[in-house]
Amino acid sequence: MKIALAGIGKIARDQHVPAIAGSSDWDLGATVSRSGSVEGVPSFTSLAEMFEAHPEVEVVSLCMPPKPRFDYAAEVIRAGRHVMLEKPPGATLSECHILRDMAAAAGVSIYATWHSRQAAQVAAAKAWLAERALRHVTVIWKEDVRRWHPGQDWVFEAGGLGVFDPGINGLSILTEILPDPVHLRSAELLVPENRQAPIAARLAFHHTGGAQISAEFDWRQEGEELWTIEVETEDGAIRLSEGGASLHIDGKEVAQVDGAANDGEYPQLYSQMAMLVREGRSEMDLRPLALVADAFLLGERRVVAPFEF
Ligand code: NAP
Repeated sequence: MKIALAGIGKIARDQHVPAIAGSSDWDLGATVSRSGSVEGVPSFTSLAEMFEAHPEVEVVSLCMPPKPRFDYAAEVIRAGRHVMLEKPPGATLSECHILRDMAAAAGVSIYATWHSRQAAQVAAAKAWLAERALRHVTVIWKEDVRRWHPGQDWVFEAGGLGVFDPGINGLSILTEILPDPVHLRSAELLVPENRQAPIAARLAFHHTGGAQISAEFDWRQEGEELWTIEVETEDGAIRLSEGGASLHIDGKEVAQVDGAANDGEYPQLYSQMAMLVREGRSEMDLRPLALVADAFLLGERRVVAPFEF
């Protein structure tokens, strides 16, 4: 199937272009970007021009930041094409609901991707937790924003999500692996005095079974990043680390099993998109974004030192 990529920036180049090139499902037919392009692929600055020149493009994968994404997604759906969304699927929950309804009415597939859920050991962690009673869950997502978002001021603008841009990856895994739903109880947002969005956050969740669940996100981490979820149950404990790539059960490392889980996060997202299109289905799990929205609703704001890249 012919696919077009829109928003040719860091993640498009790092992950989407290689994942599409390595897939037998997809052929990159065009790019749409105001300034970026991919060598050897026809490039356009608007979706309308691209569809005019390449009516055979069936799917558009959107890689721009969340705030401008809605207008692009709505245009793709109105053009009767399927649409794939980078995480987070939008800047607000209500726009995501509208896109989901538009796609259903137009009979096209929409896929809100969560790349971290495709990490190698996430499915194993979910299976291990399925029958167990939770006691404590701690999510730690700490990384250096200068390393992962060099010079990207949009991440600190309103709608850029701040530290929730990586933190939502932890929440996407949390909502995938826990056997029970959780909701936010309280939040603390640390916002640099010269920015709109938090550079760090602490969250506490309510769990129906009474487990203590918390999350800590920090973009001021220097050195190695920490992308870890620790779960203590009544029957053992697990540690999912390296963003879901590594799993320890009761302190013992679990070997990765051969299979699709080892193909890489983005190749699996593109396989899933191919399946959704073939089966005429959509996937739009908005739980991670709902938790982030609730953190902004409930969060107490603390002003911290200014931040410059
Ligand atoms: P980026 O490089 O700053 O932006 C991607 C591209 O989006 C830009 O090159 C730009 O292309 C386009 N763009 C920017 N602002 C726009 C606007 N107002 N209107 C239309 N297009 C605009 O960002 P990124 O790091 O690739 O992140 C993009 C998305 O991927 C985010 O949702 C992020 O959470 C997600 N993501 C990022 C990473 C990562 O490591 N950076 C990892 C996983 C997921 P043109 O100027 O050429 O149009």
